Amino acid sequence: MQQYRMYIDGRWVESLSGEWFESFNPYTGQPWARLPRGNGADVDCAVAAAARALRDPAWRGLTASARGELLRRLGDALADQADFLAGIEVRDNGKLYAEMRAQTRYLRQWYYYYGGLADKIEGAVIPTDKAGHFNYTRHEPVGVVAAIIPWNSPLLLASWKLAPALAAGNTVVFKPSEYTSASLLEFVRIVERVGFPPGVLNVVTGFGAEVGAPLVEHPQVAKVAFTGSDQTGRQIYQAAARGMKRVTMELGGKSPNIVFADARQENAVKGVISGIFAASGQTCVAGSRLLVQRAIHDEFVDQLLAFARKARLGDPMSPDTQVGPVTNLPQLEKILGYIDIARAEGAECLLGGGRPGAPELGQGWFVEPTIFAGVNNRMRIAREEVFGPVLSIIPFEDEEEAVAIANDSPYGLAAGLWTEDLRRALSLPDRLEAGTVWVNTYRTMSYLTPFGGFKQSGLGKESGQDALREYLRTKSVWLST
Ligand code: NAD
Repeated sequence: MQQYRMYIDGRWVESLSGEWFESFNPYTGQPWARLPRGNGADVDCAVAAAARALRDPAWRGLTASARGELLRRLGDALADQADFLAGIEVRDNGKLYAEMRAQTRYLRQWYYYYGGLADKIEGAVIPTDKAGHFNYTRHEPVGVVAAIIPWNSPLLLASWKLAPALAAGNTVVFKPSEYTSASLLEFVRIVERVGFPPGVLNVVTGFGAEVGAPLVEHPQVAKVAFTGSDQTGRQIYQAAARGMKRVTMELGGKSPNIVFADARQENAVKGVISGIFAASGQTCVAGSRLLVQRAIHDEFVDQLLAFARKARLGDPMSPDTQVGPVTNLPQLEKILGYIDIARAEGAECLLGGGRPGAPELGQGWFVEPTIFAGVNNRMRIAREEVFGPVLSIIPFEDEEEAVAIANDSPYGLAAGLWTEDLRRALSLPDRLEAGTVWVNTYRTMSYLTPFGGFKQSGLGKESGQDALREYLRTKSVWLST
């Protein structure tokens, strides 16, 4: 079994707890790596190192252009190792190699983009109404950033935080998910080779209550950048409020994918299928509520079923596999629990609805692609995030009803819209309560475009220029002339 250490102050260390935990391969159900089980004392060391690095001339004294150059070098080094990193992620989270490889190959863009912005963080000279005074603003780093990430796309979600945080001059302590810590540690080996000063990036592995909670509470942490469930997000937000810390929250969703009768049905079917079944439904933006206009409901559902039935489950490393296992055992049980709830609520299971019977999949944590019809928006299956390959179909009559159902959700992460009507394509995004709206496409994302949820789906933005502002604080300086 592979053994990892964590990374604090430029050194590879075991936990002061002396304890370890295991990481499992979801395809085999077997442990493959051993990691240090971090605790509050490790967090103290990591935050102290990050706070020291913030003052250290080796980091603080770098020009913004030099910081940008380091980030671009990191982007290049990551691109060289992208396929290797993708393989590690698959071993930990069971997502398809093709998808993880596409993600790791794309990481370089965040480091180039924010590397390019590092020396374009400009203050202003403000004309003042006070005679004999001069006033200007500076945008400074906020300080030590606690970055806490989930298991579904560890390096992508880490990079969404790390690249803007470092471009702005902060230092970072990461807490990866206890299910998928290995890829971040392999990533750090690359960071180390590129030559970032010790303490600028630290990683403490372990569990939420033992590492995440003391990290958020730590008085020297100035900002918490969190991606994960809304339940954990709420706890972290409360803890951060006690220390008046800044937060970015990227949380869950129950995103509607709305198909109108005038949509190009073939495109819509593909978009709906990949929207919910990609990554076995374990994406925050999963289009888990399919709203279909009644006029085409039966015909569209038939096409959907025909397509979904062909999905090939199997080894996530194989290029032939279309649906891999889910990431961990509690998640498998949670998904199966929601399938039971949907049945008990009276939804009609049209496809799947359990673990696959094929003996070759027996060791893995698989759930069949599952489709429920006859769902109404009050059912738990329509309101709560399942984070698995489970689609709920809700019929609607007209545009008004579609908007009402789409917005009747505690979440507001994303929404999809399928229509050939130009007026509708232009006017409906304004009415949908979602941080991202896709029209005739789904899950398209870029480093250039701000991403983040409304309502219970989060606070703040990642990617694009908005993300850089999340890691800066503004100071006004007055001079009497
Ligand atoms: P989770 O909330 O269980 O855990 C996320 C991270 O928080 C883990 O590292 C965990 O150890 C840590 N944690 C747990 N309790 C903590 C505490 N009390 N204090 C500090 N840290 C704590 O989420 P998960 O199951 O790992 O991930 C799935 C969730 O992530 C889903 O809800 C999904 O929608 C969401 N997600 C959101 C986005 C987005 O960008 N909006 C992207 C990916 C995933």
